[in-house]
Amino acid sequence: MIEISTPMKVHDKEFEVFINYQDILDNIKSMAYQINEDYQGRSPLFIGVLNGVFMFAADLMKEITVPSEISFIKLASYQDLASTGQVKELIGLKEDLSGKDVIIMEDIVDTGETMHHLWQQLKALEPRSVEIATLLLKVDVFKKDIPLKYVGFKIPEKFVIGYGLDYNGHGRNLKDIYQIKE
Ligand code: 5GP
Repeated sequence: MIEISTPMKVHDKEFEVFINYQDILDNIKSMAYQINEDYQGRSPLFIGVLNGVFMFAADLMKEITVPSEISFIKLASYQDLASTGQVKELIGLKEDLSGKDVIIMEDIVDTGETMHHLWQQLKALEPRSVEIATLLLKVDVFKKDIPLKYVGFKIPEKFVIGYGLDYNGHGRNLKDIYQIKE
């Protein structure tokens, strides 16, 4: 059966279905299976990066069978007056990470800049291990030297929304992942 999807208008842009919810769930199940295998006998602490991760985190955690903890953080961006670059400050982390097996959950990794920052900040808190689980990876633009152990979908360099991801605040509630129509 050929599925014809109607384009979705969000603000001034049109989007079309790119990955449907069932495919997302199947992919997440495979990822969870791998994590459950890898963490046998351990009890990882999952840390989700808000806001975009909320749907991925919820669906992934339902499939995790090893004993685990879950926490969320936010990255607040601000312009450092002393430098030209954007600084991303980690807020909301209450847990003591020392000796813990941390798994960072992220909705999308693009250049890897954000994850690189986060990775360094979490490493400095001396957990036993830190791994990254991202649902989406823009594989052609990713250029950081950080290990992405669990990757759901490798996608092209096109803006996506839905399943937690927004375009100027809208689209996070969409069940499927949509790609910008050009
Ligand atoms: P990076 O630092 O890896 O270049 O960018 C990561 C962040 O940019 C993500 O956490 C997300 O907030 C945002 N981002 C990158 N690509 C997209 C995209 O296609 N759609 C949306 N909604 N956000 C994106």
